[in-house]
Amino acid sequence: MNDLFTDVAPARTMAALERITCRVCERPAAVPIDHPALLCPLCMEDLDATASHVAERYAAVVVRFQGAWQTLEDAVAASPDRAWWNEKVESYRARADYSAATFDAAWRAAKAAGGDKARLCGLWEALDGVAAELERLEGWYRRACAELRAARDAAGWPVKV
Ligand SMILES: [Zn+2]
Repeated sequence: MNDLFTDVAPARTMAALERITCRVCERPAAVPIDHPALLCPLCMEDLDATASHVAERYAAVVVRFQGAWQTLEDAVAASPDRAWWNEKVESYRARADYSAATFDAAWRAAKAAGGDKARLCGLWEALDGVAAELERLEGWYRRACAELRAARDAAGWPVKV
């Protein structure tokens, strides 16, 4: 007798999924509940490539920070306003009675006056922007590396080596 149901494959159950935000690409993803790391399937696919991407993205900003720092250092060293920068601007930042309002007003006036003082202020602002980017990226880098380690340490996970 031919039973219609004997050849039917057993019903597959869907693994429980959870929503995560990938710590590398920062996109939302649905992964199995026992997923070894907070990485999306695409970032898990080739951990070596993902690790390279993380390292390269971080290193690129570190290099830009170093470049902006060196540019400012070189500009200050060669500037006719070097004494103003070192003895007024930098020393005021270190004073115990530092006032942000006073400093900001003097900063704006120096920028408005133009010339080399304004140029140094602009270079410092560029450095400050890259420093803020680097600070944000450091958190991302630490989280991404922690998840890459977790993925690699997970027993039985197919890691390409
Ligand atoms: Zn991802």
